[in-house]
Amino acid sequence: MFKLVLLGPPGAGKGTQAVQICKAWELVHISTGDMLREEIKRNSDVGKLASEYLHKGELVPNDLIISMVQQRLAEPDASHGLVLDGFPRTIEQAEALEKLVHIDMAINIAVDSDLLLERICNRRTCIHCKAVFNADDVSGVCTRCGHKLYIRDDDRPETFINRLSVYEARTAPIIEYYRETGKLVTIDGNCSPDEVFKQIMLALAEKIDD
Ligand code: AMP
Repeated sequence: MFKLVLLGPPGAGKGTQAVQICKAWELVHISTGDMLREEIKRNSDVGKLASEYLHKGELVPNDLIISMVQQRLAEPDASHGLVLDGFPRTIEQAEALEKLVHIDMAINIAVDSDLLLERICNRRTCIHCKAVFNADDVSGVCTRCGHKLYIRDDDRPETFINRLSVYEARTAPIIEYYRETGKLVTIDGNCSPDEVFKQIMLALAEKIDD
């Protein structure tokens, strides 16, 4: 079963694609952003530590996130196929991941930055199932589960701009890291979610034929 890493700037559609890929291939979706938001909601020690970083659009410290992922990967369901969404985000995390699990492919969803800001400003997230919608397409209620939609705290334009510069400085270098391992596949993310998904399916089908 595939063990995949999804790369791309904030707003590239990693979460949306991860859900689709997991459904199609029966893989486990591991989103470090969702895990951190859950910890914050529970007001756990990890949540208390992480909340300031998320609020500012900064990365939480490597050791905190690496140990959280390490624990998650030790759970039984993670021994099958999985999609890592939002991890790794630094070279140090990528190196740590290599010691934890064999990754088959790193899928980089590349999107132009002017499009990202527009997408994020319109992004609405379901409070319950975490599905993501465009504000123009929905009325404030999740079309999947009926719960309310909200604007993520870190999707405010000023925080988003910081997330983008953090991405360029700390996360973008791991694209090169995965290129060097021969595991990188780059997908054009400037098109519709369905088009992006088709490209990813094609890349996975080619991988199987290898
Ligand atoms: P996401 O939902 O993936 O956009 O993540 C939301 C926020 O969670 C990020 O802006 C970071 O503050 C934090 N975060 C998520 N994953 C990581 C990671 N791998 N390393 C550091 N911080 C992370």
